[in-house]
Amino acid sequence: MHTDVVVVGAGPAGSATAVWALRQGLECIVVDKAEFPRDKTCGDGLTASAMREIEMLGLDVSGRVQPVRHTVLTGPYGTRVELPMDAGLEPGAMMCAVMARLELDHALLDAARAAGAKLREGVSVTRLVQDEDGVAVEMGSGAGRETISARWVVGADGAYSAVRKAIAGPDGGRMPGMHAVRQYLDSPPSDVLSVFFPAELLPGYGWIFPMPGGGVNIGVGVQRSEEDCGVVCREELSRAKGRFTLGALGRLYREFLRIPEVAERIGGVDPDDGGDRVWAWPIPSDPDLSCVGRGRVLLVGDAARLVDPMTGEGIGQALVSARLAAETLGAGVADPAVAYRTRLDLHLGRDLRFSRRLLWVMKHRRGVEWGFKVAGLNDWTRRNVARWMYEDYPRAYVFTPDRWGRFSMRGRGAYQFADGTGGRLR
Ligand SMILES: Cc1cc2nc3c(=O)[nH]c(=O)nc-3n(C[C@H](O)[C@H](O)[C@H](O)COP(=O)(O)OP(=O)(O)OC[C@H]3O[C@@H](n4cnc5c(N)ncnc54)[C@H](O)[C@@H]3O)c2cc1C
Repeated sequence: MHTDVVVVGAGPAGSATAVWALRQGLECIVVDKAEFPRDKTCGDGLTASAMREIEMLGLDVSGRVQPVRHTVLTGPYGTRVELPMDAGLEPGAMMCAVMARLELDHALLDAARAAGAKLREGVSVTRLVQDEDGVAVEMGSGAGRETISARWVVGADGAYSAVRKAIAGPDGGRMPGMHAVRQYLDSPPSDVLSVFFPAELLPGYGWIFPMPGGGVNIGVGVQRSEEDCGVVCREELSRAKGRFTLGALGRLYREFLRIPEVAERIGGVDPDDGGDRVWAWPIPSDPDLSCVGRGRVLLVGDAARLVDPMTGEGIGQALVSARLAAETLGAGVADPAVAYRTRLDLHLGRDLRFSRRLLWVMKHRRGVEWGFKVAGLNDWTRRNVARWMYEDYPRAYVFTPDRWGRFSMRGRGAYQFADGTGGRLR
């Protein structure tokens, strides 16, 4: 069998790649080892950037999200900052929303199928063989083993990407960045999103995100390497002989649940009783654009390690990289890997590197408190910090004048559904 593009992985990055590739007139087969609908361990938070990309894919998720109307940040010394979520926005516009990945990923995959993508579910890609004319993609095992030849392959196969390992050599499996656990707990409906920065987690954090129809998505995320951890988190991890272990992360999660404000927010629900299993998954948030493609193979989303190092948000980045990758292939350039890396650097690379630098500030209790002070100075700072945090502005916006617009920082912004009015950032 032959096709233009084989997309490995049908998460947000893979489905979006397929939609954009089909719009470029390229035939597309999407292969995923899971069967859909499938869950993905995630905080389920959608930033303004992610929601804009979802709308650009032709998908309306308006009835299925929980809009976030209040954000409360709590610092390591107990300082609280409330960010206004609607100041300066048209009614109906939103900065952030929450949607279960079980539903979001299925809806995105449906959009890819509706656009004309062919799907192979429950089949794992095991090997790639690349030459000047194309790529042979081997998948399945035993009697079900088959090979599809493609002009290009896009690896959208997440944190443990087999495609990445195939093109990056021995270093491809190295996994810097964060690791996080998540649990769904019962709780009454809410529109409040809470983020906590206890000293034990810095520069990581804990979150409580309100789910549509009630319940919360609760979890903690920490840096995997001792080098990137703050001093208290490092001590916690070094109890496990200097190595990151899931046991240590589980302990940090249990301690997080005992913080009085956290316990109060979840209303005393017993996590062993009123919730589902605790799931852990890595967050590949150590940007390295030197390995986002080789020859006829491009990487997108988590496979390309494009998650924001400071926040762990990766859905928006997955969707943006998918669009850029498909557009690069559609342009028919001689060396798509090089062209893609250049575009990626322009659209995401600068923001990811900036975010990586901010980790150093977030490692220290005083650094976080200082950030809180700046954020809470006045209405203007609170509003713009909210827009910045939820990716209404690119992360390094202030330092990249080429992206400034006429109404930057003053104009109305954030995501608006198609029937809403009011301006967007640009
Ligand atoms: C606990 C946690 C909380 C998070 N919270 C947020 C948040 O609130 N907001 C946010 O924006 N981001 C969040 N993230 C990050 C976000 O989940 C990821 O960045 C996002 O899922 C990346 O999407 P993707 O399509 O690249 O990869 P995935 O969603 O991981 O999809 C990869 C797909 O590839 C398939 N696959 C893997 N290997 C193969 C193979 N060999 N052959 C075929 N198929 C294969 C898998 O089955 C899967 O369906 C969080 C991550 C974690 C771990």
